[in-house]
Amino acid sequence: MKKVLIIGAGPAGLMAAEILLEKGFQVDIYDAMPSAGRKFLIAGKGGLNLTHAESYEKFISRYGNSTAHLKPFLDDFPPSALRAWAQELGFETFVGSSGKVFPIGMGAAPMLRAWLERLRQQGANFHFRHRWLGWDEKNALRFDTAQGEISAVADGAILALGGGSRPKTGSNAAWIPVLEARGVKIAPLKPSNCGFDISWTEHIRTRFEGQAVKSVNLLFDGKSKRGEFIITKRGIEGSLIYAFSAALRDEIESKGSATIQLDMMPDWSAEKLIASISQKRGSRSMSSFLKKRIGLSGAKAALLWEVLPREKWNDIAEIGERLKTLPIKLIAPRPLEEAISSAGGVSFDALDENLMLKAIPNVFCAGEMLDWEAPTGGYLLTACFATGRAAGKNLAEKLLF
Ligand SMILES: Cc1cc2nc3c(=O)[nH]c(=O)nc-3n(C[C@H](O)[C@H](O)[C@H](O)COP(=O)(O)OP(=O)(O)OC[C@H]3O[C@@H](n4cnc5c(N)ncnc54)[C@H](O)[C@@H]3O)c2cc1C
Repeated sequence: MKKVLIIGAGPAGLMAAEILLEKGFQVDIYDAMPSAGRKFLIAGKGGLNLTHAESYEKFISRYGNSTAHLKPFLDDFPPSALRAWAQELGFETFVGSSGKVFPIGMGAAPMLRAWLERLRQQGANFHFRHRWLGWDEKNALRFDTAQGEISAVADGAILALGGGSRPKTGSNAAWIPVLEARGVKIAPLKPSNCGFDISWTEHIRTRFEGQAVKSVNLLFDGKSKRGEFIITKRGIEGSLIYAFSAALRDEIESKGSATIQLDMMPDWSAEKLIASISQKRGSRSMSSFLKKRIGLSGAKAALLWEVLPREKWNDIAEIGERLKTLPIKLIAPRPLEEAISSAGGVSFDALDENLMLKAIPNVFCAGEMLDWEAPTGGYLLTACFATGRAAGKNLAEKLLF
């Protein structure tokens, strides 16, 4: 029986393992952590967004510059196939209001438990607390364990070591120098789906940290999207910001900062807004007047006063204009460790079309460690599952024929 090693027990590695077990291989799965799928588990905390139900054409376009590279793998395992796979594992899925797909029950833990149980029944051998270190001079794979260093040989291997965000989950990107030493081209890891720093005043930092700014339109780089974000001590984060994070990060990298425009009153035309706030104010303060006339309060109001120069605080035309286009300057992305995911990784140039490393025969790569990025919305997990599956299939084919 041919033996394969999977290193990394996240969604990509487990999917590769499943395919290889189905094809009759002996499968040994190694992970540095004491248990599998730690990032998958934290992904399930706010609801495990497995994939997305929009048209496949739209879905695939979300991978931006990486679409062409990922398309063959996603074509073979599209969102519909992922949903069918989850159902077969015992987890029906449903489509949320925004088109995002979740398992009924939302959580990742029951799904991971059932999946690991099924893999064990199929014959997978798990080796936890085994940190992969690279290769020895005989090309055996080296692992650091509590009992000291061990090595393992196999007919082929799949690396599914994850990106570099949230390193406490095990994906700490320590594989980068190991692969670089073998001549594998790696694009530097960068934060993706991340928050950003803003030079808030003390007032915003202390009074509004943690508060949501809901139902605003964010405009950047000619694109506009409606959604919400959270004010943090250092800046902003949340789904609306993540949707723009790649473009914002790149703009900051090239120009030193990026300025977003917020339409805080997207349901009001500029004319209606001006007409409403041009009414007689009487003795009311401007804040209480705006609250009464247009319902502006809390974090949204605080953002307006944060941006508007003090001498304009009674200038109705300026207030109206700023409520429709409020500029907010972002000065830095939050560090990779805090991000939801990472951009960069093993370059597609370093891989053949089957995801095998050109520099290291019979070693395949899958998941977030590859050089692609996508917004949140289930796109990350779908591509991890799809590339894991492709790497498993292609390794099996290579070893069988
Ligand atoms: C807070 C949060 C929420 C998220 N929510 C979603 C969501 O709802 N939907 C979505 O699509 N995506 C979501 N994601 C992203 C998604 O979880 C990841 O993209 C996905 O887990 C990556 O899968 P992977 O198998 O490539 O890598 P990982 O899941 O990171 O697994 C890599 C594994 O490799 C192991 N490893 C690393 N180095 C070594 C080594 N040297 N030796 C041995 N083992 C090693 C690690 O311990 C880890 O178990 C979320 C991420 C975060 C942080």
